[in-house]
Order: sequence, then structure tokens, then C-alpha cells
Amino acid sequence: MTLDDLCSRLLPPDDHVHFETLILEDHHLTLVAAMTAPKALCPDCHQPSQRRHSGYPRTLADLPWALMPVALVLQVRRFFCDTAGCGRLTFTERLPTVAPLYARTTTRLRHSQAYTGLALGGSAGARQLARQALPGSRNTVLRRVRSLSTPAYPPPHVVGIDDWAWRKGHRYGTIVVDLERGCPIDVLEDRLADTVADWFKAHPEVNVVARDRSESYASGIRQGAPEAVQVADRFHLMQNVAAALEQVFSAHHQDLDALNEAQRQALVKRADGSVAVPVPPPPRPPTAQERAESSRARRLALYEKIWELRRQDWSADDIARQLGVHRSTVFRYVQQPTFPERTERRGKGRSVLGPYKDSLVQRWNDGCLNARRLFREITAQGYPGCYNTVVQYTQRLRQAQELPARHRTPRQPRPEVAEPTTPPLTVRGATGLILKREENRDEDDKQQIIQLQAQHAELAEAIALTQDFAALVRQRQGEELQSWLQRAATSCLRPFQGFANGLWEDYEAVKAGLTLPWSTGPVEGQINRLKMLKRQMFGRANIDLLRLRVLYHT
Ligand SMILES: [Zn+2]
Repeated sequence: MTLDDLCSRLLPPDDHVHFETLILEDHHLTLVAAMTAPKALCPDCHQPSQRRHSGYPRTLADLPWALMPVALVLQVRRFFCDTAGCGRLTFTERLPTVAPLYARTTTRLRHSQAYTGLALGGSAGARQLARQALPGSRNTVLRRVRSLSTPAYPPPHVVGIDDWAWRKGHRYGTIVVDLERGCPIDVLEDRLADTVADWFKAHPEVNVVARDRSESYASGIRQGAPEAVQVADRFHLMQNVAAALEQVFSAHHQDLDALNEAQRQALVKRADGSVAVPVPPPPRPPTAQERAESSRARRLALYEKIWELRRQDWSADDIARQLGVHRSTVFRYVQQPTFPERTERRGKGRSVLGPYKDSLVQRWNDGCLNARRLFREITAQGYPGCYNTVVQYTQRLRQAQELPARHRTPRQPRPEVAEPTTPPLTVRGATGLILKREENRDEDDKQQIIQLQAQHAELAEAIALTQDFAALVRQRQGEELQSWLQRAATSCLRPFQGFANGLWEDYEAVKAGLTLPWSTGPVEGQINRLKMLKRQMFGRANIDLLRLRVLYHT
């Protein structure tokens, strides 16, 4: 193969580009080529012309050769247009596969810049181009991305829509995903019913839409695609039932506290069959406790004030304005018939001591009561924390055995200590426990559920309703929905009555959700990707750029 052959092959793909010469300079290459087509088409009348007027060189930046920038100097020609009636006297030949009109870069270089920008965004894209000896500033990269047209997609029949946050709590957009292909097909700037309706009017071929429970999507789809079947997403239904159950647990927080207290007193059964006294939970640091108490007092005062105004028939908006709080706070408190206590968030393994507790308890039971020695031992095992933490823990161990706090070997035999096998139940933890799938529950979980049911009739009813609803959702028993709704509506649990009312209003979609296989699960995945792209643009993403980057998903 000669150098001429090689150079010809490396030229842009056009049959009539003829290689002439290669000029090698210190840090860059110039390829000289000429157009050789015998005739060209007039851009106005589309008639061919052979009569040449003149010629001139066009200099185009092209893809680099092995990190060496390449300039393509292309001799192009100007032709006369001889067609009678055509207003144009002369024209330059067009190079559709080489470069657009007036451009100073080749088409293939522009594509490189655009796809780098799609993958990396403006600044990172420009840096990556520079590393590969490709030209292009941040602005060039963004301009190239914007010049891409939206990728075409086959008409969607089943779509899922969901919202994503530009900024949480402030501004939301919408993503539309083709559920049959699992591809995002559009990104909308907001989540208003009108925007959604317009999108569906432009896509009359859609006949199934999976969505969350928001009213604005429901009404947007009703307006834009009245014929389409709406499917309420099962994940969102589970979230809704969990919220209702959490409210019940919050109202019954004394029952949870009683259970936790009973568990604190109970002996711990260990794997070898022996029993031991449980290690008491760590005391709250006094400062945090003071903080919590003052915060609780503040919240309690607010709660009572809200209810006082509520009983005087004030509207939520008026209450919010009067008390200077957000209306969602007012709604939350008004839904709670008793003051919602905050529950302690404390679990096993949260402490830095977590992984060493087993060995500490073991050594303690073996008779080593010296905190400093225990500290040295676990430090040798890799414990990164401080001595005081160990001292505080040994104080709790002592407390469990009711020994005098002073370091002294007791006369009477000490009971053995052990960490409780289950962490204290919180409102959220109890809700998670009830929603756990049957096959994932262990013995402790089952025991705790039985205790919760025994604690109060309302709890038992709420648990039964939740578990039955979860079964409806998981096994898609749409035909059972109506009887469940009647049970919930006639129960004495206000959160479940409210939940059931909401479902009645959205009955068709909920039933479809419990019957059809579609869900917005794939939409959530695309939202995660969208968030990643949004953050890559440091929150300065415009909808047009973000949309293109989401839609070019490969
Ligand atoms: Zn013409």
C-alpha cells in the first residue's frame, strides 16, 4: 500500500474527494485534497451544472491522526447555474458527507464532539477532547450537543411517567419511559396536568399509562388520552399503605414503648440454649436529651395550638399563616389524633463499638471487668474508637448485672450478660416489619408481630389490613380490592379510612395496578440515571441539554 492509498482511505467518506498531498509540520498535519465530481447540483433548482466559474480552498479541522491534529485543505469549486428561470447565477458545490455549509470542522469531527458532550457534559467533554487532541471548547461541545435532533422512537403503546426533582421540594420535572422497550422517550420541564395532557395528545397511540398516585398526572392523562388505561403503580401503593400504618403506630407509640421496655427486661436466649440478662440501651447524652425535650415541648405547643385553631374551624392555610409554619406541617398534625412522639433512632451496629460488642460481652462474662484491659484488647483487634466509649459500655454491662459501679469482684455469682437479639422497635421499624415478605421473616420478627397484635386491638386491625393489602399488591389480586376497601372504610382506623377514600377516588387505576403487569419500576431506574446526569452538570442543566443527554441513552 502506498502513502497515497493510505491517505485516500483516511479522508472523509466521499467518492469525489481526491487526495493530493500531505504536509507534515512539527505538531500538526495538513492534508490537501480536491473535489473531482464532474458536475454539481444547484441548491435552488436542483439541476446539475458542469460549467465551472472558479475555485477556492476550504480549510476544515478534521479528526486527529494518532494525537496529531489534522487540517483538511479541500479545493472546492464554484459553478454557473444555466437553468432558465433560476434566480441563482453561481453556486459552490455542497459536501453533504464531508462538512456542512460554512462549517470549519468536518462532520465526523462534529459528531465526535457531540457524542463526547452527551456522555460527559460540557466541561468534562472539552477536557476529554483535549486529551485526544480533538479541538472543542466547553461551549463548542454544548453547541454540538444542542444541534443533535431528538432520537426517533417507534410509537409507544405502554408508557410509565413519574416525576423527578430539579430541586427537592421546589421544582419537579417529568420523565416518560416506553415500558415495552425500557427506554426513556421524553423529559418534560414540569409535572403540571396541562403539560402531561399536551404530551399525550401528541401521542394518541399510547393505550396504557403507569403512574404514581398524584392527581395532576391522573387528570393530565384523562385530558390527553381519555381512552388509555391508567395503572397506579404498586410500589407507590405500598408506600401509601405504609404511611397509613405509620400513622397508626405513631398514635400508639406508648404501646411500642411498652413492648420495648418489656423486651429490655426479658432474658436473652443464646445460641447454646443458656440465658443471660440483656445489656441496657445506652443512656442519651444529657445535652441531646435537653435538646430533645425542648424540641418536644416546642412541637407539643405547636400541635396543641394547631388543634385549638382547627377546632375553631380555621382552614389549614389560615392556621399556617397565623402560626408561621408550612401548611404541610398543619396537615400532618391535623391528621394525628394524638401528639406524634419522635421515636429514638438507635439500632445495633450504629456505634463504633458494634463489631466488638460480641467479644466484649464474651470477655465480660469470662470475668474480665477491667475496662482498660478490654480497651487494649479490642484496640489490638482494630477498634478505632476511644477509651471512654468502652468505659460507658462496661457501665451498661455492670448496670445489667446490678453490680456496684466501683471496680470490685463480687461475692455472689453474677448473671451472664448478652446484647438483646432484636433492636428496639421504632415506628418506621415496626412498619417495615409488617411489610416484610412472609418468606423473609425470621423467628424474632414473627414473635414481635404477635406481640404487637396482642398489644392493642387497633394495632391488630391495622396489621391485618396492611398485610392483606400487601398480599393484594404482591399477588395482583385486583378482584379482592373492593372487599378490602370496604373493610378499611368501616374500620375504626382513621388513617386507613383516609387511604381507602383515596383509593376509591382512583379506583380504576388502582384496580388496573393490581391486575396488569405494568409498573413504573423501569421509570425509577431512568430517574436515577437522569439524576446522575443532572448532578454531573452541577445543577446548571437546562431542560434541552438534560433532555438530549437522557434520551441518547446508549
Ligand atoms: Zn439553479
